[in-house]
Amino acid sequence: MRPAITDELTDYRRIPRTLSHVYYDPLTPENEAEVEKIFKALTSDPSDPVQHNRKLTTWGRTITVPESSSTVAKFRFDELCGMPLSAADYLEIVKNFKTIFILDVPKMGMSQKDKARRFITFIDAMYSYSRASVLTAPSHPYLPSAMSATAFRPALLIVDVQEDFCPRNGALAVPDGRAVVPVINDLLALPFVLKIATKDHHPPNHVSFASNHGPDAEPYTSVTTITNPANARETYETQLWPDHCVAGTPGNALVRELAADRLDRVVLKGTDPRVEMYSAFRSPLRDPPLASAVSELADLLRGHEVTEVFVTGLAGDYCVFHSAVDCAEEGWKTYVVEEATRSVGGQEGWEKAAAQLKEKGVGIVRADGEEVGRVRELSGSA
Ligand SMILES: [Zn+2]
Repeated sequence: MRPAITDELTDYRRIPRTLSHVYYDPLTPENEAEVEKIFKALTSDPSDPVQHNRKLTTWGRTITVPESSSTVAKFRFDELCGMPLSAADYLEIVKNFKTIFILDVPKMGMSQKDKARRFITFIDAMYSYSRASVLTAPSHPYLPSAMSATAFRPALLIVDVQEDFCPRNGALAVPDGRAVVPVINDLLALPFVLKIATKDHHPPNHVSFASNHGPDAEPYTSVTTITNPANARETYETQLWPDHCVAGTPGNALVRELAADRLDRVVLKGTDPRVEMYSAFRSPLRDPPLASAVSELADLLRGHEVTEVFVTGLAGDYCVFHSAVDCAEEGWKTYVVEEATRSVGGQEGWEKAAAQLKEKGVGIVRADGEEVGRVRELSGSA
């Protein structure tokens, strides 16, 4: 990620994505001039001139932005982290600007813990909004030693990449489902701290099979009501499907092209015949939760001190969707890798699911994006 090599002819306005997290270090006069040039290029629109000391307001407080256009802001490190700003203040800054320059990021030891903590909070906010940053540092390494305490321990979750969910012979084939496998195999080669696949693993009498609901029940269109065995008042409606992923059948197997030898663990779901379990974490029953429909997934992730989870697999609008929602709700930073999923409802189904996922705080990322890139970088430091 550093240092960035830039060439004279680059039009920086056209490459905001590739600008993401560009570090200049050490801060030579040439680098400083280069950074100033990028800032000028990004703020060269005469209808959107640079303002000095722009005021932002959040929670009744005022934050001053030393130099900014409507999309680009520039701070010296001390203007950003040298004063007692909170996470909410940093989010407000990050929400307002697409690209943020932070100049003169110092080397921080334990005596500058407050500054280091604020810097980390700010960088987290940048990641959560996928913002681009340009950082400069007077000496290498600029990263605070306290930063190493902020662990980045990503896990890869591969949901239900099973023969029955894939064309051509799958009983419940997701359109183009098999196309996720090469993408997932590439991800499996990365240094995730934990690589878990899940399997839909149903007994033949599973409640989600239309065949278990009499002659009028139709897969894909009929629904049935599921009742909490411990609480008759808690119910939910669920869609019926063709028989699929029955334990012991070929359709239950992980797709044969999947690099399963790289998996740390396979977690089974949907094993209780009485309840549907789209989420790899648990059934929707909450009052009380049905113990036989709560998997060991959350415990595994906690046990390995995972900090973020990258979700992939099938299907984007059902099991991937519900797994990602539960994952975020359990407190992990959660991403779905877009090319590594396909949906029952095709592209349209995915777009609807993706919009809802974003509302629930799940990031939608690309396999070649910067979030996965952070995992890739772990290989160098491992
Ligand atoms: Zn199922």
